[in-house]
Amino acid sequence: EHKGFTDIGTNRNMEASLTARDRVGIQDFVLLDAYMSENAFLDNLRKRFHENLIYTYIGTLLVSVNPYKDLDIYSTKQMDTYMGVNFFELPPHIFALADNVFRTMLSEFNNHFILISGESGAGKTEASKKILQFYAVSCPSTRLLNNVRDRLLLSNPVLEAFGNAKTLKNDNSSRFGKYMDIQFDHQGGAVGGHILSYLLEKSRVVHQNHGERNFHIFYQLVEGGEEDLLRWLGLERNCQHYSYLVQGRCAKVSSINDKSEWKTVRKALSVIEFNESDTEHLFGIIASVLHLGNIKFETDARGYASLNNNQEMHWLLGIPAQVLQRGLTHRKIEAKEEEVFTPFSVDHAVYARDALAKAIYGRTFNWLVNKINESLANKDSSRKTVIGLLDIYGFEVFNVNSFEQFCINYCNEKLQQLFIQLTLKSEQEEYKMEGIEWEPVPYFNNKIICDLVEEKYRGIISLLDEECLRPGEATDLTLLEKMEEKIGGHPHFVTHKLADQKTRKTLDRGDFRLLHYAGEVTYCVIGFLDKNNDLLYRSGKEVMRQSKNPIIQHCFPSTEPDSKKRPETVVTQFKGSLVGLTEILMSKEAWYVRCIKPNEAKQPGRFDDVLVRHQVKYLGLMEHLRVRRAGFAYRRKYEIFLQRYKALCPDTWPNWKGTAAEGVQCLIKHLGYKPDEYKMGRTKIFIRHPRTLFATEDAFQVC
Ligand code: ADP
Ligand code: MG
Repeated sequence: EHKGFTDIGTNRNMEASLTARDRVGIQDFVLLDAYMSENAFLDNLRKRFHENLIYTYIGTLLVSVNPYKDLDIYSTKQMDTYMGVNFFELPPHIFALADNVFRTMLSEFNNHFILISGESGAGKTEASKKILQFYAVSCPSTRLLNNVRDRLLLSNPVLEAFGNAKTLKNDNSSRFGKYMDIQFDHQGGAVGGHILSYLLEKSRVVHQNHGERNFHIFYQLVEGGEEDLLRWLGLERNCQHYSYLVQGRCAKVSSINDKSEWKTVRKALSVIEFNESDTEHLFGIIASVLHLGNIKFETDARGYASLNNNQEMHWLLGIPAQVLQRGLTHRKIEAKEEEVFTPFSVDHAVYARDALAKAIYGRTFNWLVNKINESLANKDSSRKTVIGLLDIYGFEVFNVNSFEQFCINYCNEKLQQLFIQLTLKSEQEEYKMEGIEWEPVPYFNNKIICDLVEEKYRGIISLLDEECLRPGEATDLTLLEKMEEKIGGHPHFVTHKLADQKTRKTLDRGDFRLLHYAGEVTYCVIGFLDKNNDLLYRSGKEVMRQSKNPIIQHCFPSTEPDSKKRPETVVTQFKGSLVGLTEILMSKEAWYVRCIKPNEAKQPGRFDDVLVRHQVKYLGLMEHLRVRRAGFAYRRKYEIFLQRYKALCPDTWPNWKGTAAEGVQCLIKHLGYKPDEYKMGRTKIFIRHPRTLFATEDAFQVC
């Protein structure tokens, strides 16, 4: 029997006694009767947090507060408990949501996605892993499919090793966006998967801010790599030795065990069908990036760059030493039939070296995602349904925010926009379809900020791209001027020059500030043009094309469009991929997990009211609650309602002769529902308050 969320349970166990309610709070905010204030909301969240009850519902939306400690609530036994159980019958849990989505998918045979949002460190990635585990472990399966589950599960540690890093906000921060489809056959067996990745923060490869690290994999390799392997790669077992690993001055982190992670990654790679030679080539590349970072340039007699040593790289990537040397110190210019090599200055050479390192790493990451996809691919062509998991970098504010934060926060604006459209839209559509009157709830629409960023011709992205088209003339500061000129009057945009006296003190001359839906962020414009151009010299590319390493060959194909045609800028590519993502999501049924970060110190047991209140506000939780409550909390099809409760009325028991709607009408008349407590739609009965249904359910249990 299908027990989707429309089949509301009674919560009798949890909500029965007032004393229990006082202690553990209320598990569905929709039930927070009468007082719908932000304070009451916060009180409830706090109360539950201190009882280790980190999950609370707003209807079917799940709110999760990061406990920053391991709770014993994710065992296989717990999974069993939640599998196939009425959504509202057990305490709120990420497994309950996962199960509910799964069951709805099976019964309606349609596609779904779960959008997990919240700021950096709020628990998104952990939540997505729990969901994936739930599906991999508890879905029905045949023996054949066992490796699919393992691969689904093990794709995670691999992607995290290459795509996550320690930041100031989170010791395991995702530095790329991830959308993963899990494909199910009609019996609910997980039969395949597909991953889309978004904008990896490549700049981290060559530079890390104080207190941050490079991507985990570098440290794992150096700390955990087998003796033989390190010798073969020409690496020393000492992170301090590598200039790309020490810029944040925190190669060692107490919460991270690089050695044991290395073992996990090794094992995972073998399960997802990496053979010995794949892994050798892969780690050859990782090592060569480290070697590349250690290449130093000196000024030769003519004032140009010459390099000290490139032996390891030459050897690892199978590129002739001469070619490599020239590629790293010269720029190739094509002048009519003729090739001219102009030498770099030292600064220029360093820049070109870093650009090459970023390109190598970024392209290898994409290769890795493709390779994982091959291993997750389901070759069987029978019809499948999917559940998509979206775990994308959360809203981010540092002391200094750059191009990367701009892209990340723009992405969060877009997702918020999607949430607004879908939650309001789907509610509204259902009422309309069922012919029920409905008064829209006011909310802050962040479309104005999305427009500020992405509008054609005058949005920030357009202006940025425009400046990138004027090499030699444009600088980061001319971009700032252009923004001041074109969007200076926008209520969500301010700079030093535009600010009033008080605000001006908080802004530097090279700053611009955006009032995001989630709060103010001050961006330093320096580096924007450069990072957006993401220029890789032709000479660097050509050098890579001569590599004997098959992964590099794949990443730098000789058919790549020439530099004569301008490649899309980074931000424009990103914008395009977000459009694609939105399309993918819009075609599916949406479910939400909203993650909240209880304190900035990453500590258990600390609930910072100010911090949480801010998140509750910008995540739009109060508005969402209002929408849920202004409408009807619960609804069910007439047939199902009648079937369940017909025994409560002598006229409908045992068999009702008329239509289901008439039967329900007769039934609720008998039960004494008041006119404002319910509405009759075309196919469903809508019940305003859960308590109405609880009373009916109680009567049913007694009878
Ligand atoms: P995000 O992806 O939102 O940036 P993460 O999911 O990486 O954040 O969580 C950050 C850290 O918080 C994790 O590494 C873990 O230590 C802790 N954490 C998050 N969720 C949980 C949870 N449900 N139980 C225990 N610890 C958690
Ligand atoms: Mg994450």
